[in-house]
Amino acid sequence: MLSWPKPPGDARLSACHFCDTLHRFSPVEEGISARCVRCGGLLYENRAASLTRASAFSLAALLLMVLVHTFPFLIMDAASMRRNLTLTGAASALMHQDAPLLGASIILFTVVTPLMLAGGMIYVCLPLLFGRAAPGANFAAKWMYRSEPWNMVEVFLLGVLVSLLKLVKVADVHFGIGFWAFAGVMLCMAAALAGIDREELWDRLEVAKP
Ligand SMILES: [Zn+2]
Repeated sequence: MLSWPKPPGDARLSACHFCDTLHRFSPVEEGISARCVRCGGLLYENRAASLTRASAFSLAALLLMVLVHTFPFLIMDAASMRRNLTLTGAASALMHQDAPLLGASIILFTVVTPLMLAGGMIYVCLPLLFGRAAPGANFAAKWMYRSEPWNMVEVFLLGVLVSLLKLVKVADVHFGIGFWAFAGVMLCMAAALAGIDREELWDRLEVAKP
């Protein structure tokens, strides 16, 4: 496979993220990456089956998100009582008790942001597979990448595992289907974002038919 399509008359320069050396942008074949001549840092990469991988992993993340909100996240057995805890249930309980900011942060960083990322990726990448750009695709791509640093699925998962160390002393805790689905969302989101290089996405958007 050859390089991804480039906008005509494009004489762009690409700066190294590590040492700022400027390079003339030249196309690379599928599976090949362009590296800095001075420090060897990655400039951009033509990833194999990029659009298909980004769309497929984003779709898988969306489907897993449905499971996260349908099934219990944690199941706790204490004093002959069983409690099923869902992600949104736990966040809304925090909002109604004494930690409204924490509850709202959980909803924002583990529900809204991953939804924006996965939804945006599908909206932008799926039509590009057919050489088309969806209406407002540039705007969607911009906001998709802006929301990326706020996607804190892995931070939340790590926080849950740490808090479990304390919880197991007072209750018998099991992971529900929601927890495993949430771990799947984390992996799928990472694979979707790593599936396509930003340079490639913007080039494809520029040459795509509206
Ligand atoms: Zn460099």
